[in-house]
Amino acid sequence: MSMRIGRGAVKKGEEFDVVIIGAGPAGLSAAIYSQRFLLKTLVVSKDVGGQLNLTDYIDDYPGMGKIKASELVAKFRRHAEGFGAKVFYPEQVTKFERLGDGRYRVLGRRKLDVTAKAVIMAVGSMRRKLGVPGEREFSGRGVSYCSVCDAPFFRGKDSVVVVGGGDAAFEGAILLSGYVRKVYLVHRRDQFRAKPFFVEVAKSKPNIEFVLNSVVTEIMGDKKVNSVRVKNKVTGEERVIPVDGIFIEIGFEPPKEWFHSLGLETDEAGYIKVDEWMRTNLDGVFAAGDCTSLWPGFRQVITAAAMGAVAAYSAYNYIVEKGWYKPAKPEVKGTIFDQ
Ligand code: NAP
Repeated sequence: MSMRIGRGAVKKGEEFDVVIIGAGPAGLSAAIYSQRFLLKTLVVSKDVGGQLNLTDYIDDYPGMGKIKASELVAKFRRHAEGFGAKVFYPEQVTKFERLGDGRYRVLGRRKLDVTAKAVIMAVGSMRRKLGVPGEREFSGRGVSYCSVCDAPFFRGKDSVVVVGGGDAAFEGAILLSGYVRKVYLVHRRDQFRAKPFFVEVAKSKPNIEFVLNSVVTEIMGDKKVNSVRVKNKVTGEERVIPVDGIFIEIGFEPPKEWFHSLGLETDEAGYIKVDEWMRTNLDGVFAAGDCTSLWPGFRQVITAAAMGAVAAYSAYNYIVEKGWYKPAKPEVKGTIFDQ
């Protein structure tokens, strides 16, 4: 039975073994393993799914074949909850502070106030902005940061621009090529970060035009976006492309200032520094998934899930070493012992 936990289900001052911040693949995988170690586990998150909510299908998670990203999220969540984890959302953790006895007090914007013997940060990262004139003004009026979410709104339109050269831009361009007459893929280089598979599929689409070595310098419109100014970085040539929308798919940036305010060390790009056991610089705080410095440039569901599992294992070892381990009652439903 999946246990849908409402906000009221977590009491003020409630004590948990592990509080996991973030319910994407890293956080939910950490929750599965944390419960498997019989640790009383709370997952707190703004949403359930994280970046999977920005993806249409996943076809490279072992054993799943081609699966709707939303369905994979539901499976992760059911699995974690089935093992006994509480998933508490929507809530945004604002801070955690160390108590005199070494545990952490975790506080949220909507009055979450609980304690944890160990904390796992699995908060992902935020969408990067282009920072050009018109971007903020037309946000939601032709400027989108999620092709997968917004492509259907452009059905039957004439043309759109997708910016970026990574998996997200290519996935978006391919998807949009089925909705609009013409897709311009604008990328600042002539080499792509995207997986070769995506690149080859995009190249096979007659209505995707590659605009390479080029950057968008301005987004223009009236009530909605109607054109973008694009500059070729090699020739200096500028052109105005009439479009109905622009999809900015240029990656993510971690909330570096927040991490620093919590006392977490980051790398130069702002990702939480972790060792191979997902330990951060703070005793009892672990991190997993896209918010970490591990495996940059290869942010996948499977890598996030792997990091989550390792973080939970490390949290378990930490709690045992501290002499704090009190195993919770095992939840056998959905396990190999559920006959
Ligand atoms: P990404 O891999 O970081 O790629 C970002 C792209 O945007 C790069 O091509 C980069 O150019 C460009 N870019 C960055 N800043 C820019 C700026 N200010 N102006 C213009 N262009 C800029 O990001 P992503 O594509 O969003 O993917 C994020 C992670 O999710 C990746 O690990 C990816 O593999 C994963 N993902 C996977 C799938 C899938 O497998 N189905 C789908 C989506 C995302 P440069 O190349 O020149 O740096």
